[in-house]
Amino acid sequence: MTENSSPLFIVDAMFGKLGKFLRLLGFDTEIANSHLKDSQIFEIALKTNRILITRDLKFYEHAQSQLKKKNLQSNMALYLPYQEIIEELAEIFSILGIDPEIFIWKDGEDIPFQSRCSKCNYELIKVKKETVIDKIPLKSATIFKKFWQCTNDNCGKIYWIGRHWEDIKAILQKVRKLIQDRN
Ligand SMILES: [Zn+2]
Repeated sequence: MTENSSPLFIVDAMFGKLGKFLRLLGFDTEIANSHLKDSQIFEIALKTNRILITRDLKFYEHAQSQLKKKNLQSNMALYLPYQEIIEELAEIFSILGIDPEIFIWKDGEDIPFQSRCSKCNYELIKVKKETVIDKIPLKSATIFKKFWQCTNDNCGKIYWIGRHWEDIKAILQKVRKLIQDRN
């Protein structure tokens, strides 16, 4: 998947966990403020060419009728009435034809995608351990070798492939299995 063809998303505030996960997978994802009205969220989606993800059937149906009127593709709005992030991701990947395999890395290998900051959606860049060593827990600095930092000056969150990423990989493997089982 090239940067140009990678879909952009806007998720409603209920999907905070999914939104953060999509960011870590490198998808440019807005998490809509909870005070925004549905119409405002949809307007942002249209203006910024983002795929709307909602759990609200009425909002979804309204979005679909608007997309139809504007001759836009129906997959610019997705309805995800699920509780589990695995089901949500499986649905997104299935509808958009994204192979979860491209995100799953082998032990000891680099992660095969350009992550974004789960907190603020800015891109991450690889940084040398020495440059961030005073900002990370000593234990992590001892165990891990590769570090990334958020490029947003107001955030600067630091990432490393620790245990948390094993959970991410396990979720991706379950998504892959769920999609395979359905086919
Ligand atoms: Zn950030």
